[in-house]
Amino acid sequence: MSFTVAIDGPAAAGKGTVSKAVAAHFGFAHLDTGLLYRAVGAKVIAGAAPVAAALALDPVDLENDALRTPEVAQAASEVAVIPEVREALVAFQRSFAARAGGAVLDGRDIGTVICPKADVKLFVTASAACRAERRFQELVAKGLDVRFETVLADVKERDARDSTRAAAPLVPAEDAVMLDTSDLTVAQAIAAAVDVVAAARR
Ligand code: C5P
Repeated sequence: MSFTVAIDGPAAAGKGTVSKAVAAHFGFAHLDTGLLYRAVGAKVIAGAAPVAAALALDPVDLENDALRTPEVAQAASEVAVIPEVREALVAFQRSFAARAGGAVLDGRDIGTVICPKADVKLFVTASAACRAERRFQELVAKGLDVRFETVLADVKERDARDSTRAAAPLVPAEDAVMLDTSDLTVAQAIAAAVDVVAAARR
């Protein structure tokens, strides 16, 4: 039987951490849909045309640590405004969501466009400064040479582009449960999300 958990929210709000933990807790599969857009963005940086790159995307393309850089994140949010790119990625995401045994998908439009009938919808957010600080620490831990101001500007630029685009903008679904992680520890954020999913399974 399928059971779909849709987790949306802006960059670096903690969606990835919460999604992985929820998936592990309930034994569900997890898809980070940002990776799809990042993989397309990386191909565009390498010279491909966006729509062709999206149509030719292979799941193997997602297993690449180089997709986690700020440059690729920017390229991802640029290709993500193109409706044909988004359409090319819909079928893969929906079939993942419908898999037997349960699935958690995290992204920007999972609860609104990809899985409007998801069993659980969470919108994970946090203040821009908080999110930039977390992303900054992550990048520094990876050994990347970045400045906090640059990371903050990058987060704000992506938020603005993701929220104002015409195709599947970043907005909470009307029936999403809001989870603001600004003042929560990782453990608290995970516990809150697990509670919401557990309540929906009863
Ligand atoms: O989540 P992540 O930061 O990896 O996503 C990179 C970019 O991909 C986002 O800024 C957004 O523009 C795009 N994206 C999207 N829809 C999704 C997931 C990601 O438009 N479901």
